[in-house]
Amino acid sequence: MITIGNIAAAIEEFAPTALQESYDNAGLQVGDPHAEAKAALLCIDVTEEILDEAIARGANMVISHHPLIFRGLKRITGRSPIERIVAKAIKHDVALYAAHTNMDSARGGVSAHAAAKLGLTDIELLAPQNGKLLKIVTFVPSAHAAAVKEAMWQAGAGHIGNYDSCSYSMQGTGTFRAQCGANPFVGKVGELHSEPEERVEVIAPSWRKDAVVAAMLSAHPYEEPAFDVIALGNDSPWGFGVVGNISPTPAMQLLADVKRIFHVGAISYSGSNMEQSITRVAFCGGSAAELIGDAIGAGAQMFITGDVKYHDFTSSNHRIIIANIGHYESEQFTKEIFFDIIRKKFPNFAAYYSEKERNQINYL
Ligand SMILES: [Zn+2]
Repeated sequence: MITIGNIAAAIEEFAPTALQESYDNAGLQVGDPHAEAKAALLCIDVTEEILDEAIARGANMVISHHPLIFRGLKRITGRSPIERIVAKAIKHDVALYAAHTNMDSARGGVSAHAAAKLGLTDIELLAPQNGKLLKIVTFVPSAHAAAVKEAMWQAGAGHIGNYDSCSYSMQGTGTFRAQCGANPFVGKVGELHSEPEERVEVIAPSWRKDAVVAAMLSAHPYEEPAFDVIALGNDSPWGFGVVGNISPTPAMQLLADVKRIFHVGAISYSGSNMEQSITRVAFCGGSAAELIGDAIGAGAQMFITGDVKYHDFTSSNHRIIIANIGHYESEQFTKEIFFDIIRKKFPNFAAYYSEKERNQINYL
């Protein structure tokens, strides 16, 4: 049986909820994680129409990019669409799940996935998150180092880029004197002991700290293992927006391509040199005008995002072409990420794209 929680866990393996912004509310919003998941309907926003579609199609899970419940609900009396959707979802046993800013920041998340539609290559993060990486160091008798490393890797440590099982070891000597009441693995109570040890270092995401430390402690032979947990200032492999290269394309041609690929009713854009050929493009799904400076700093000639205001356009002094393609348009392909995750992990589970979903913004 595949549960609602199993589907959520698969999505969170790709986009851990620890990556979400402080204002966000990603995760399971309505429903029992232990209940069987029969089928899932995929969308960007949960609407009453989409919930009706899920019920009609026998899908007892709706997976959206935007969370339905963002702030606390004080009552559920049907006065607002959110209250009505929550009440109806509970009544019909439909779980509501969202992966929002955690999906934005995930490796291969919202922006990287959308940018691939444009054919961007050599993709890098535009605004990596900081404070998400730890180094965990421990000191192990050499004969036990391999087992301790393996335990930490299994718990989620030691991933760097496309590599796993990363660690660093150095030989040294540990000293200790067991006190009364101790039961030392080596050495005698009351005697100073020197032991050849290996200093083992691994890197880990901050949200795996407890799991990695617990795994290390359980594999470590000492009664009182020494270890350090060190916060790193390194840019993390998670963050907002991407920048990449594109084969030389005239600016107006690229805007026309974007309009077609993202089904945009109208692109509003600014730029003083629309004659140039574009080879470097920054993209951020959703509402990311605050990353204009990062896009300029990354050498992009064009920045594509949604929700750009007048002063956002003008504040860049035309040092970059800014293309405002709409919030929904820039995030619409996020449903495909959900689909791919589910298809890979649960090949026989039914995940459907909503047929009722539409951009709620129209263009005249
Ligand atoms: Zn959004």
